[in-house]
Amino acid sequence: MAETRIAVAGAAGRMGRTIIRIIAETPGAVLIAAIEPEGSDHVGSDAGELAGLGANGIVVTADRKAALSEAEVVIDFTAPGASADLAEIAAERGTAHVIGTTGFAADDEARIAKAAEKAAIVKSGNMSLGVNLLAGLVEQAARALGPDLFDIEILEMHHKHKVDAPSGTALLLGEAAAKGRGIDLTDHSVRVRDGQTGPREEGTIGFATLRGGSVVGEHSVILAGEGERIELSHQAGDRAIFARGALRAALWAALRAPGLYSMRDVLGLDR
Ligand code: NAP
Repeated sequence: MAETRIAVAGAAGRMGRTIIRIIAETPGAVLIAAIEPEGSDHVGSDAGELAGLGANGIVVTADRKAALSEAEVVIDFTAPGASADLAEIAAERGTAHVIGTTGFAADDEARIAKAAEKAAIVKSGNMSLGVNLLAGLVEQAARALGPDLFDIEILEMHHKHKVDAPSGTALLLGEAAAKGRGIDLTDHSVRVRDGQTGPREEGTIGFATLRGGSVVGEHSVILAGEGERIELSHQAGDRAIFARGALRAALWAALRAPGLYSMRDVLGLDR
């Protein structure tokens, strides 16, 4: 079987190390380059050792062009500016790019969209296959059941160190529900309830947030009707789910024409 040649950017990061481990255990995928920024202490280290696998002969480099010269696809969980720069470098040579980095400003988004005219880019704030499948199911359920008979509430729980709420994934699920209903989430979301709120307003999408302990991430979308309730849920056990999703996206993107794709495209949900 021909192997897909993969570079990893942010190789010494938490996600980068996990991705290097997942590539090593996946038939059909081979790590050929590992990238860290100029000045990083990890430049010159062995990527396999960084990932806790033992030496694999791939030396971490800051030379992005050289790293991409033999790669069919680069998986990138770094920082917004770094990902936008890498998108331009990858596009120049037609290398596919999987972007898991989050927190982009509008100008970074525009640079990435421009780069996607020359190479395939898959970008998602949540690379988990399960969460993206859940979003597809939520959209379908919201469309089928409609707002007059079923209310939608989104419940999430994360570890006690998380600083933002609702989670980006809860919002992604809210967007999916809103899309199914053909409405704009910003005009219909209820992010907090406290005190004399009055009865629930029909057609809104409510959010509830729990925080505590070491929970990696749990999300439930509840569709509540008269006398019946449907719950669609996902539990994240560890961050390897994001790495597995990113690798699946990489194997998919390596064969794709230029364009900006989502994980829903990778899963074939928008066909
Ligand atoms: P992290 O441990 O801080 O790792 C980031 C890595 O990127 C570090 O090794 C860092 O190197 C490197 N880096 C920074 N600038 C770079 C550049 N210009 N070129 C090459 N490498 C560069 O963070 P993480 O937890 O792995 O997360 C990374 C990103 O992925 C964040 O944006 C996070 O929100 C996102 N994320 C997304 C998903 C998803 O499913 N989409 C899941 C988890 C995380 P130095 O340490 O030397 O600066």
